[in-house]
Amino acid sequence: MNFCRFVLILVISLPAVSFAQNKFEIPPELKASYEAINQRSVTAAVSFLASDEMKGRDTPSPELTIASAYVAARFKAAGLEGLGDNGSFLQTTEIATSAVPVSGVTLKQNGKAVKHFGLMSAGDAISYQGQVQLVTGDEPRDTTFEGPISIVAEPFTGPRDQFNLMRRIARYRGKGASAILIQVDQNHPLIGSAKRATRPRIVQTRGGIAGAVLLIPKMELTGKFDLELPGQINGQAKVSNTIGVLRGSDPELSKEAIIITAHLDHVGLKGIVGDTICNGADDNATGVTGVVTLADAFGALKTPPKRSVIFMTFWGEEKRFLGAYHYVNNPTWPLGKTVCNINIEMIGRPEPGGFEKAWGTGWDKSDLGPLLNEGSQKAGVLIFSHPQFSGEMLFRSSDNFPFFEKGIVAHSFSAGSLHEDYHQVTDHVEKLEIRHMTRVIQGLFAGSLHLASGEVTPKASAVQR
Ligand SMILES: [Zn+2]
Repeated sequence: MNFCRFVLILVISLPAVSFAQNKFEIPPELKASYEAINQRSVTAAVSFLASDEMKGRDTPSPELTIASAYVAARFKAAGLEGLGDNGSFLQTTEIATSAVPVSGVTLKQNGKAVKHFGLMSAGDAISYQGQVQLVTGDEPRDTTFEGPISIVAEPFTGPRDQFNLMRRIARYRGKGASAILIQVDQNHPLIGSAKRATRPRIVQTRGGIAGAVLLIPKMELTGKFDLELPGQINGQAKVSNTIGVLRGSDPELSKEAIIITAHLDHVGLKGIVGDTICNGADDNATGVTGVVTLADAFGALKTPPKRSVIFMTFWGEEKRFLGAYHYVNNPTWPLGKTVCNINIEMIGRPEPGGFEKAWGTGWDKSDLGPLLNEGSQKAGVLIFSHPQFSGEMLFRSSDNFPFFEKGIVAHSFSAGSLHEDYHQVTDHVEKLEIRHMTRVIQGLFAGSLHLASGEVTPKASAVQR
């Protein structure tokens, strides 16, 4: 028997007996549901969503659209009913985008063409002849500018440098600079951003860069410049939340629903050399895998729970919860009949001692965490208040927050830590702990089943705001 056939037999047999190895009794009526939560299907879903082909699922991108179609197909297979547009599984909207034109830049110094590294962003078209001032940052704070200026960007040593540079650009733009020529070395990561700037990007109201930013080599700015910069290409892109419902079995309680969510998007591409794909395995292909696998588990129940259960994935979380805001402002289920939101974030990388455990954000804001734990304990999974992560900060850092702002009990549940691969090209599937993740999903099933049964109703704590 060769090694790989042995391994194959081992892998095939593993999931079927996995829960038998776990120290909890499965009521016969839930057997099919727990069997639906297995390492094989978890591996399949998370590997697809975090594959290089998904190019980091940026908002907007063709890859995110494909990922939404995948989730919709999973909801359909789980036997859910569409709760999106016209009974479909997609709640689609259009967002404004801007892109940098592929060509049209002219840069001459004293009549001689100067090689450039491309536009990182564009604004209105610019045609300029004259001097270009070098700005070092030592100018008096009240200095204002006219026309294009130039700054030097040193190599990045960390995300902080990129953030500071974006702030400088925004400041100089606010001081009147019509265009910013950034001088960089030829392997500077910004060049990667310029290369990708031709892909339509969401027009951001906060934090994004706007206006003409051209990357040039380091140079003396002597003499007269001729600068022609094309305007940005404005457009629209379609983005979708995916939404499906398992209608409850009780005539009254089925009008109420618990909502289980996760964000589908990630940050896309980064850098210029080598691996530029932020695969977003833990953030948040694991959360989406949790949602579609829970849909399978609930869909496998002979009798649906008394309350309805809604499953949803969002676009635009990395752009500050845009998909979740779109939903709570255009709900397809009455917000007043929405019992709670269980948002799943990053459940694939347990910290030491964290195996088969998950924690909730903003723990003290309601009793949702303790209630979920009451149920998850039946599957041998602990849901607890994490000394470091269960406070305010992370509570406001994911898609549960727009629901909370609408007065709904809403928390995120994670099962790991903010590890060094967070938002990096190194957030790969191979680093996930699939057994842990599968167990946590089993725990979330047991916990949310407890809520969907109608036996308990989470309440916001008095001091929730
Ligand atoms: Zn995330």
